[in-house]
Amino acid sequence: MRPESLFTAFAPITSLKGCGPKLAPLVEKLVGGGRVLDLWWHLPSGLIDRRYRPAVAEAEPGRIATLQVTVDRHLPPRNNRMPYKVQCHDGSGRLTLVFFNGREDFLRKSLPEGETRAVSGMIELFDGQVQMTHPDRMGTLEEIEQMAAVEPIYPLTAGVAPRTLGKIIEGALTRATDLPEWLDPAYQQREGWPAWRDALLAAHRPEGMADLEKDTPARQRLAFDELLSNQLALLLVRRRLKRQTGRVLTGDGRLRDALEKLLPWPLTNAQRQANAEIAGDMASERRMLRLLQGDVGSGKTMVALNALLLCVEDGAQGALMAPTEILARQHAETLEPYCAKLGVKIALLTGRDKGKARAALLQRLADGEVNILIGTHALFQDDVVFKDLALAVIDEQHRFGVSQRLGLAAKGQRDPISSERGGGVDILVMTATPIPRTLSLTAYGDMDVSKLTEKPPGRSPVDTRTVASDRYLDVVAAVTRKIQSGEQVYWVCPLVEENEQLDLAAAAERHSALRLALEPELGDGSIGLVHGKMTPSEKDAAMEAFSAGRSKLLVATTVIEVGVDVPNATLIVIEHAERFGLAQLHQLRGRVGRGGKPGACLLVYSGPLGETAKSRLKIIRETDDGFLIAEEDLRLRGAGEVLGTRQSGLPDFRVADLAAHADLLVAARDDARLILERDPKLASERGKALLTLLYLFERDAAIQYLQSG
Ligand code: ADP
Ligand code: MG
Repeated sequence: MRPESLFTAFAPITSLKGCGPKLAPLVEKLVGGGRVLDLWWHLPSGLIDRRYRPAVAEAEPGRIATLQVTVDRHLPPRNNRMPYKVQCHDGSGRLTLVFFNGREDFLRKSLPEGETRAVSGMIELFDGQVQMTHPDRMGTLEEIEQMAAVEPIYPLTAGVAPRTLGKIIEGALTRATDLPEWLDPAYQQREGWPAWRDALLAAHRPEGMADLEKDTPARQRLAFDELLSNQLALLLVRRRLKRQTGRVLTGDGRLRDALEKLLPWPLTNAQRQANAEIAGDMASERRMLRLLQGDVGSGKTMVALNALLLCVEDGAQGALMAPTEILARQHAETLEPYCAKLGVKIALLTGRDKGKARAALLQRLADGEVNILIGTHALFQDDVVFKDLALAVIDEQHRFGVSQRLGLAAKGQRDPISSERGGGVDILVMTATPIPRTLSLTAYGDMDVSKLTEKPPGRSPVDTRTVASDRYLDVVAAVTRKIQSGEQVYWVCPLVEENEQLDLAAAAERHSALRLALEPELGDGSIGLVHGKMTPSEKDAAMEAFSAGRSKLLVATTVIEVGVDVPNATLIVIEHAERFGLAQLHQLRGRVGRGGKPGACLLVYSGPLGETAKSRLKIIRETDDGFLIAEEDLRLRGAGEVLGTRQSGLPDFRVADLAAHADLLVAARDDARLILERDPKLASERGKALLTLLYLFERDAAIQYLQSG
């Protein structure tokens, strides 16, 4: 149960003064939650310094100043279009206050003629006159003295005024109480970190720009807390998964050997090695929890099939889960011919299967007639019962769906792979993203990893070129030529950071422009569109039209299902390539040239490019090695941006920033290990404090694992 000390943290924001039912939804949307602690994690991004108090004549335009003046005269406007003005002065000169739509009664009350008042706001110079439009603050001298000299500025959203948000957050901070210290005292002392509550207050009350940096003791501490909770939670889940004994699966090799004879090519050394590592895990009594990392096209599917066949050899069943329906279908189509020849029964189950057909399939599954089941999340619905499931292969592509669940199961939702029902099932997660170590730590913790570092021979790298956006017409011409020669093209639209709405608008606009330009020539319906706001079935329909060749050109936001194979697609155009992460560019271009015909990629950029942007595009032009690219990108840009985390589904940290706090992550990992080694049940004083930490960061599911042993 959540400790009492955190009750206020989880109280609704509507319990705060000034946060009524109208405002609450807006604030909630802004800060990502409707509880008091959601406001705690909304840290200021800037500050207003009201300590600058010059004489009127000396006040610098463009700066926030607090001025002490005598009010001379109110000049109400003669018509609605003119502003209301109030003339004032001090010993050095004159100041005009300007109000649009000012209410006379209110202004006369706030600024009585003949009296001294203080005003604070932006200084402007207009016709040689010092003026201030809509002062942020007006009041008597005493009132102004009580005002904070430095005010934090928070990231804002439409409909919430800065003052209002500031007050609500101030209110939320008064609810923060001291919490038991969960940090190792020696470590805390060495780092010079404040106690939790002090750190929170300090982070919200900057006194200067330096206090807004990510490396202040306050912000570091808060970030470390979050990372520690992440690492502890991952370790707890992992410990729990590993503790469940797996079953010993050795197989007799009969199906795997037969498969190798069927394949038109030899396995790569990397594939052999991965097969051996997986077979080793499956043969052990401990449960397998392994990550198979391999660049696009490195041949992960065969490794997966190999593992699935191993468990079929032992008479057990295997499951392969893909993130989307179309990918699931594609896996089924790839594996079916092999399985048919091997006498292995595979079946496909997606959310679309309903009624009798579904019931019949489930029956065959329960009877053990189906050896390998392929599907989407539908695989983990309650009525899907295997006769004897021994292995789950989870193809994550780039979405980290499972890692999120590993990383925690978060908010009370059932975690299919660690549920009792799935207990003991070996797990193999496949990802095409060469995740730098730091990032894989936050997503998976210390999972065992197999890497396919080598690609099947005979594939020519995608011919990658950069083109300035002013050559748009040439790009369109190249696209037209490709399509006229019977091939297909992807067109990826700009990524507008942090604004899905704009992404979408850009894609939709490009889609209509290309339709206008090309459909007369290429035919109606030849230009498709797929984006993130479509329903899954709309997305699937658009992807299917493309993969079946009905549409020739597919305009997409980055949501395009990166794992889908359309062998006939040979060109990919990526607009505003300079805005993408390198790993993302690499994955995107991996979509083309998969069918034997060589692929090409046009990276369209809008100049002028900075040095970093230039080096980045150069790397992607010259290298075809996903791991190298990820590392280079990490070096050039820092961890946080490498994957374009917004869409990747990697854990979303509230305070920690992996670009700035990568070293803290490693420290948190080490600390978490040590903690659980020494105090596996978190029973000591510090252990209890750590429980509070886990609750504070909502790792409730991990806590259950702790208690159930
Ligand atoms: P990934 O899933 O890692 O992106 P796939 O498993 O889809 O890659 O394999 C990409 C392509 O390479 C497929 O067409 C597959 O048949 C082929 N392939 C896999 N292994 C080999 C190999 N050892 N030699 C040649 N081609 C291979
Ligand atoms: Mg694949």
